[in-house]
Amino acid sequence: MTNEQTLPSHVIDEIKNLAISHKEEPLCAYLYDLDHLRQHISTMVQVLPNNVELFYAAKANPMPKILSTLAPFVNGFEAASGGELTHLDQQQLNKPLIFGGPGKLPSELKQAIRMGVDAIHVESLVELQRIGEIARQLETPVPIYLRMNIDIGEITLSKLAMGGKPTPFGFDENELPNTLQVLKDYPLIELKGFHFHLMSHQLSVKRHLALMQKYFSIVKHWQSQYQLGKLAINLGGGMGINYLDPHAHFAWAEFCDKLEFLIATESMKEWQLRFECGRFISAACGYYVMEVLDIKKNLGENFVIGRGGTHHFRTPAAQSHNHPFAIVANHNDTSPLLPKVTLEKVTLVGQLCTPKDVLATQQNVKEIAISDYLVFTLAGAYSWNISHQNFLMHQAPIFHYF
Ligand SMILES: *Cc1c(COP(=O)(O)O)cnc(C)c1O
Repeated sequence: MTNEQTLPSHVIDEIKNLAISHKEEPLCAYLYDLDHLRQHISTMVQVLPNNVELFYAAKANPMPKILSTLAPFVNGFEAASGGELTHLDQQQLNKPLIFGGPGKLPSELKQAIRMGVDAIHVESLVELQRIGEIARQLETPVPIYLRMNIDIGEITLSKLAMGGKPTPFGFDENELPNTLQVLKDYPLIELKGFHFHLMSHQLSVKRHLALMQKYFSIVKHWQSQYQLGKLAINLGGGMGINYLDPHAHFAWAEFCDKLEFLIATESMKEWQLRFECGRFISAACGYYVMEVLDIKKNLGENFVIGRGGTHHFRTPAAQSHNHPFAIVANHNDTSPLLPKVTLEKVTLVGQLCTPKDVLATQQNVKEIAISDYLVFTLAGAYSWNISHQNFLMHQAPIFHYF
């Protein structure tokens, strides 16, 4: 039994060709399959119910080519900082932007308002008042959603819970009456709707549907209780990628199918709904490639050292998982002195001087030798941009798009 994944043959070709064009040094690269990304996002959008929009959360991967590939398909982009707002603006994507995240600076709020964002997701009463003051100063209407954290009762939390328990995100439901009262002091603030993003890494369609149902019923309840008029709901992101079993990601098509039914049974067809997904959109198009530099046995265990490591690709360390990988053979067996491992367990590590620089532990491989390529799949989201790139001052990887 091997833990190796199989790669599409065109990806193997890209890796080999890239290695040929950079043969002065062992290969270390991120590859992005933009065709795959285009197909994936187009299928995702096709199966969405009619009244549901899809935004891309840029923090998952804000590479310009990723953004421009997605732009024709998505309804807009979500920014989580002033830096992301500026970056998204510079890409000239010509799509609506939304601005969320805790601890927004007054200058960032001003920037968002000046840019005319589609909505600001408001995290707290203090932030609401800051927005109100800026709106007054600039004499501009400001569309907002209130980000809510609610008790989700029986629904199980996923691995990364952003709500449904105490977190720094969003308003407590008990604060809502007072918040709506404060809103009356700021006629330039337009309450467009409510925003929820309670979970990431969701793999269960059933639980996610239960969450959607909870959002629908609670917002309808607030609407009638506080006589709120027409509202939209941002249902967040959080659809999961299954790094341990790459054949069992969140079942998007099934989810959308059942969501359509839920929308009908909950009488939500007239509501404008939207998602803001990150990981589920961009994870699968990315590959991180490390050429094997060294292989050694240490106190009985095999270690394979590749060029690069968690300073480029922190995902396995951040998630504390064994990241799925494939091996592309590159060695020529003319040098029998070079170490090689056949049908054994190996631990895959990088070049950092820390025992935490591990990408996968005790993995069964058929064969691996020096100068082969370790290819980590599902590396298109929360990978390069969450990594501590300056630690040890190694060179950056090559970035290649196809
Ligand atoms: C990060 C984030 C998202 C995207 O989450 P994914 O798990 O990548 O889909 C959506 N909304 C908010 C508010 C976020 O912080």
